[in-house]
Amino acid sequence: VKIYFAVFTDTNKKPEGIIVVMHDVTEEQKLDSMRREFVANVSHELRTPITSIKSYTETLLDGAAEDRETTERFLNVINTEADRMTRLVKDLLQLSRIDNEQMSWNINEVSLKAIVKDIVERMQLEASHKSQKLESFVIGEIPTIKGDKDRLEQVVINLISNALKYTPEHGEITVYVGRLYNDIYVKVTDSGIGIPAEDLPRVFERFYRVDKARSRDMGGTGLGLAIAKEIIQAHGGTITIASEEKKGTEVTVRLPV
Ligand code: ADP
Repeated sequence: VKIYFAVFTDTNKKPEGIIVVMHDVTEEQKLDSMRREFVANVSHELRTPITSIKSYTETLLDGAAEDRETTERFLNVINTEADRMTRLVKDLLQLSRIDNEQMSWNINEVSLKAIVKDIVERMQLEASHKSQKLESFVIGEIPTIKGDKDRLEQVVINLISNALKYTPEHGEITVYVGRLYNDIYVKVTDSGIGIPAEDLPRVFERFYRVDKARSRDMGGTGLGLAIAKEIIQAHGGTITIASEEKKGTEVTVRLPV
């Protein structure tokens, strides 16, 4: 708590009164430490791919480039790491645009049913790489809603791509679209590794990952769910997650009609 004092005097400099202002700075300090943590996280996330690019490049320059096979392998690693940095910077820019309210939303009538069907179709190839079954079900009549089609597509892509990433081979990913009273819901369920109960409340935080190494191996930035949450909240909707370890995960988005 910060305390400010002010003493009021009359024309003869005689004290007339005192004002005491007490300012609770707990919230400010919390924000400040969140900001610091975020910057530390960004730095760390960027340094990891740079370190790896640098060491593979140096090894190539030191003579490894004479072997064709090694060269190809190393260049592939460098390429993958550069892609990761691009994704990370793109995600960060998007979050900062939302934070600063500089995001330009392109609001139109959109059909969540069409979006889900389209994305599920587009992601079949990715699912087939792990022999996963990816299906969608539309339950009842789904009216259109007002929203930004590209951003809502991005949310659906993020959720399905997480489901594919964190579900082993031959797993099942099912997406439901339906209406519940005045909300349209999109539910993405998977039969994957699940999330421990103690981690569940934190997965929408920026850079929070249950298993950092696994997320990185899968090419994740740790920002996918944080971005999804911002986009859905900007639409006046909600996003929730339920999960059971080794059973699977269920992410539900609700958007007002
Ligand atoms: P990432 O890029 O690491 O996937 P996200 O923000 O999309 O970042 O998700 C945060 C974390 O939540 C992931 O690292 C993972 O631990 C967990 N997670 C998200 N979706 C799922 C899922 N469908 N199954 C299991 N874990 C998940």
